[in-house]
Amino acid sequence: MFERTEYFIVDLDGTFYRLDEPIPGAADCLRRMQAVGKDFCFFSNNSSHSVGQICARLARMGFPVPQEKVLLSSDVAAEYVLREYPGKTVFLLGNANLYEIFRQKGVPLVTDNPDIVMAGFDTDLTYARMCDACRFLADGAVFLATHADLNCSTPYGYMPDAGAIQAMLTASTGRRPTVLGKPMQPTLDYLTQKLHCRPEALCFIGDRLETDIQIGADNGLPTVLVMSGVTDEAALQKSAIRPTLTLPAMGDLIAYL
Ligand SMILES: [Mg+2]
Repeated sequence: MFERTEYFIVDLDGTFYRLDEPIPGAADCLRRMQAVGKDFCFFSNNSSHSVGQICARLARMGFPVPQEKVLLSSDVAAEYVLREYPGKTVFLLGNANLYEIFRQKGVPLVTDNPDIVMAGFDTDLTYARMCDACRFLADGAVFLATHADLNCSTPYGYMPDAGAIQAMLTASTGRRPTVLGKPMQPTLDYLTQKLHCRPEALCFIGDRLETDIQIGADNGLPTVLVMSGVTDEAALQKSAIRPTLTLPAMGDLIAYL
């Protein structure tokens, strides 16, 4: 099933860890991939954490990785703006971590009259900033989004993620964003460019059908759905999105490597 796979693209939340707890068997699975001559890379749609924070969390879990092994929708979004809209200014809905990533990559950020409104997972969101974003969109700014996940899991259940914030902007303005994270083409382009490989060399592993699995399904690539996160049996049965393989958790993939 994975003869052509060189890189497993592994989701984080609900796939490798749940909050601060690693999912049993996940680290063993990644070690096994490398032992059989394949490699992996983490890719998360969550645009509210920095790569440094994620690496620190992985290290605390006993699985340290170099920063280049962790890729985020934030990186895809910032590089997309630089490539597709060179010199254009961005009003960013995001927290300090997302601002830092955009600044580091040299994206021109403004608080008024932007060419682009970029909606990310803004965990510091205020009503005043939503009003600003709606005004800019009504004035014709390009509408982009880091990712469109509706919810993010917390110790207390789910909290509204970037997709829910975008839904509020869409309800008010009638505008819909171009989404850049999983499952969209800019993410696939970003991965193949970063890893210097063809799409056929990739296999996606994750817990969310409409992102982790959809990106593989859209591109004829193998996918592994793990039932350790947001998807339950009922949701899987109802969905038209079909993973290549469905397993209880990543540790169960070892038998297929
Ligand atoms: Mg996930």
